[in-house]
Amino acid sequence: MPDGGTERSEGAERTERPESSERLGRSGREGCALVTGASRGIGAAIASALARDGWPIGVNYRSDREGAQSVVAEIEREGGAAIALEADVAQAGAPDQLFGALEDHYGVSVLALVNNAGISADDLTPSLGDEAWSSVLDTNLTAAFRLTRRALKAMMRARSGRIVNISSVVALRANPGQANYAAAKAGLIALTKTTAVEVARRGITINAVAPGWIDTSMTAGVDQELLAAVPARRAGTPQEVAACVRFLTSEEASYVTGAVLTVDGGLAA
Ligand code: NDP
Repeated sequence: MPDGGTERSEGAERTERPESSERLGRSGREGCALVTGASRGIGAAIASALARDGWPIGVNYRSDREGAQSVVAEIEREGGAAIALEADVAQAGAPDQLFGALEDHYGVSVLALVNNAGISADDLTPSLGDEAWSSVLDTNLTAAFRLTRRALKAMMRARSGRIVNISSVVALRANPGQANYAAAKAGLIALTKTTAVEVARRGITINAVAPGWIDTSMTAGVDQELLAAVPARRAGTPQEVAACVRFLTSEEASYVTGAVLTVDGGLAA
């Protein structure tokens, strides 16, 4: 238990804002941000949005080096700072590798972490293989736990930090063929809430964003007719998700923690 037990009472400190709050947001100088799976899609949009807020960025990718480098180039064109970092987040050594590289490069701690890297391996449950189950759980849930554990060390010392976990609407609303993916994304919400209350007194917020159907390579093969089920009658954009993550990592969101923000055109409503 990082914060010395399950006790949630704040006593006299309850209405005080953390002294270190100026470390967050535009200053960016006292901390950097790591966005996992940022070589394309939602992660790439989040990396750009956070860079515009002044965060020096680590653009993690697993295989798409070119994609990650073009995200870095775009951020630099806009006057921001970014580096591409190769790592498979499903590997146990990834957190030390990524955080070590960022701390060396920027000379500051990671004070914003966005657990965005995710994969799907869909099948109906009777046919769902062990490998499809484990790879999705390892990438989408276990990696987020390990990265969160690593991130909290410095955040607790700094009494400042932002963690955003990219969950999914399927954690809240059934989608046949995604038992592994939905279980991982629902686990991510439970992880979010639990860790959020553990560290709430330390000026650290931890929230989840649950996108619905967002137009990326992950949804490229999905039957467009399914859009009829979305009240907004359209897919969302990576930028619409990134705007919410940007808010949750900002100083303005200092009293939002343990929340799940749906970005789904009304699908889960
Ligand atoms: P994409 O498939 O477009 O991008 C996935 C990103 O994750 C890529 O940058 C990929 O890097 C990276 N990645 C995958 N596995 C790993 C790994 N083991 N280690 C490091 N990086 C990895 O997905 P989206 O942008 O659509 O999805 C982003 C997140 O949003 C995911 O968590 C997804 O589950 C979630 N989401 C997406 C929705 C959608 O409709 N698109 C809806 C709800 C949630 P590389 O290419 O280098 O392998």
